[in-house]
Amino acid sequence: KDFRNSVKPNWCPGCGDFSVQAAIQRAAANVGLEPENLAVISGIGCSGRISGYINAYGVHGIHGRALPIAQGLKMANRELTVIAAGGDGDGFAIGMSHTIHAIRRNMDITYIVMDNQIYGLTKGQTSPRSAEGFVTKSTPKGSIEPAMKPLELALASGATFVAQTMSSDLKGMTSLIEQGIKHKGFALINVFSPCVTFNKINTYDWFKEHVKNLSDIEGYDPHDRIAAMRVLMETDGLVNGLIYQNTERESYEALVPGFREEGLAKQELKIDEAKFQKLVSEFM
Ligand code: SF4
Repeated sequence: KDFRNSVKPNWCPGCGDFSVQAAIQRAAANVGLEPENLAVISGIGCSGRISGYINAYGVHGIHGRALPIAQGLKMANRELTVIAAGGDGDGFAIGMSHTIHAIRRNMDITYIVMDNQIYGLTKGQTSPRSAEGFVTKSTPKGSIEPAMKPLELALASGATFVAQTMSSDLKGMTSLIEQGIKHKGFALINVFSPCVTFNKINTYDWFKEHVKNLSDIEGYDPHDRIAAMRVLMETDGLVNGLIYQNTERESYEALVPGFREEGLAKQELKIDEAKFQKLVSEFM
């Protein structure tokens, strides 16, 4: 069960994405997957390269479109464990509508967002997760827009699994990814994954100082959606751990009328040969 391959990542030394790669590899091994049981689908951005660095099936997709590819794959072959991955620009800007609809659809996919609050691949512009006042080349006088709140949005959209962690917490991140893989539905895991080259504000030290561990909040119940929303609002979303899980709602696949365990790719094609040939002739 070795999920490492021989491709050397070309992330900057110290980039938070290295930890995410390691956590996915460890989590996949810990839950007993084999490389042929796993597919990692990514979007575009520095973090989007991750699909090429893991020994599993992988698609380095197009910008903001990791989730449509991941959902199509899951429907085609439900036996695969599907992990989608990308950055905050990929998932919360160009891909945001896919993210919301994937959340409310609740297909059995784990979505890991490497949230570095900046566009790293294009050399440091303000992203939807950059804080108000954040100075970059694209906002030299400071961003005049507030950062978006993807986790509150996820809860409001009917999410069944919402978690957040940091690249510096490899053990905690691995555990959350394991829980996300085992969760029967859509699991959103936001990872504070510092861009050490372009974001000099939201550093490893900044997150350690500002992020609160949910395990330190006495009596916190991750099955209470109202409490989850409240803790996000009270901490400005700066928490680490499992924020919310609903184990009662069934996944999209299980609710599809005529649900069958085997994916579409494994189901026998029942076609009317005459109708099929007529259809083909229309395209000739
Ligand atoms: Fe990581 Fe930033 Fe370098 Fe991209 S530019 S590899 S996000 S440190």
